[in-house]
Amino acid sequence: DEVLRQVGNRLAGAVRAPDTAARLGGDEFVLVCSVPDEASVPGIVERVHAALAAPVLANGTMVGVGFSIGLTITRNPNADGDELLREADTAMYEAKHHGHRRWETYQVLRDRARERQSIEHELKEALTHDRFRLYYQPICDSMDGRIVGAEALLRLEHPARGVLGPGSFMKVAESSDLIGPIGQWVLQTACAQLARWAAPEGFHLAVNISGRELEDSTLCGRVLGMISEAGIEAQQVVLEMTESVLIEGGRPVIQGLRRLTAEGVGLAIDDFGTGYGSLRYLQKFPVNTVKIDRSFVAGLGRRQQDEAIVQAITALSGSLGLNAIAEGVETATQLVRLRTLGCRLAQGYLLGRPVPADELMERLVNQDVVMSPVPVTERSAPSEPDLSASDWWG
Ligand code: C2E
Ligand code: CA
Ligand code: CA
Repeated sequence: DEVLRQVGNRLAGAVRAPDTAARLGGDEFVLVCSVPDEASVPGIVERVHAALAAPVLANGTMVGVGFSIGLTITRNPNADGDELLREADTAMYEAKHHGHRRWETYQVLRDRARERQSIEHELKEALTHDRFRLYYQPICDSMDGRIVGAEALLRLEHPARGVLGPGSFMKVAESSDLIGPIGQWVLQTACAQLARWAAPEGFHLAVNISGRELEDSTLCGRVLGMISEAGIEAQQVVLEMTESVLIEGGRPVIQGLRRLTAEGVGLAIDDFGTGYGSLRYLQKFPVNTVKIDRSFVAGLGRRQQDEAIVQAITALSGSLGLNAIAEGVETATQLVRLRTLGCRLAQGYLLGRPVPADELMERLVNQDVVMSPVPVTERSAPSEPDLSASDWWG
């Protein structure tokens, strides 16, 4: 009670007339403030933070004060008070959910929820109206540019907004049940495409798998079923997932993946180096490929640290018998550095953007004709960073 009384006093001291501070009951307080515009809101939050920063001395003990702030903003002078309180309460619980000393605004939460709903709606529409597409980005031998595989990347062909990348919808898909049917569609489409491609010997197709998909214990069985149904080899399929997904998945996930890899399915760790970056996991999981994150590749030829990281991952992968693929190769300089560092496989805009299946097929068919080996030494590298891959391989 003494703590609450003192907190009340401090809050009252943090506002100026005609604003008011009141205790709502329990440990909830409410401040009613009139402000010229929304830009003044953070200032009020800061004053509350400042007021409650120092511990409270109650009955001879210093007590730290934890709190969460929920805000609601109205321009209507006749707004319903109860309604406003409910809104602020909703925002406060959301803030509390995210940890101590946070604040949330009801209107921001509401807009976010609406956007989420509309994306969910678009995703359902896309499933029923067959609007998802897979694009395929080549994975190349860094020495001679030959395509050795591809990564399937999801796109949504929106009737009004054109082709949308996963950045605009994947989070919502993953946090809803829609990831199930979407992931199933991706796997099925990728397997069917592999069967149609009559791909060259050793060609593999990588498919991204999200954490939510791995939680589903039927995934491994379904993957094997789709592979046999499509009449393709398990060795042609690679599943890409991030380290955190593997680590958080725990034992059941590892067991399922072992079953898949025992059948020949490949397993790649995506965005390697951005998560735990733990080398121990490379051995713990049945992984056979490591994808070096784009952020390190970007620094090749420019940042010593990035070079060292790429070199270390490449060397380590080599000694563990794993493939290393450098992601996000955009410049000839980066490609040449990768060769020098011994990184055999590369993927990125320089080597090819994600394209529809037919376009990748065309490149596959023509690659024996179009591509010829190029010098491997660093000195022969063109200095122009924006040289395209076709210039580079003639
Ligand atoms: P990711 O698996 O790391 O895929 C690589 C992303 O980098 C792709 O973005 C690709 O278009 C982009 N990229 C490739 N080369 C370059 C380059 O040289 N420079 C730059 N700046 N970017 C490059 P995208 O297609 O937008 O996909 C983003 C992420 O969405 C993927 O990251 C993956 O995590 C997720 N995703 C994509 N398709 C699927 C899917 O079918 N299922 C699941 N679960 N996730 C997917
Ligand atoms: Ca990937
Ligand atoms: Ca990646």
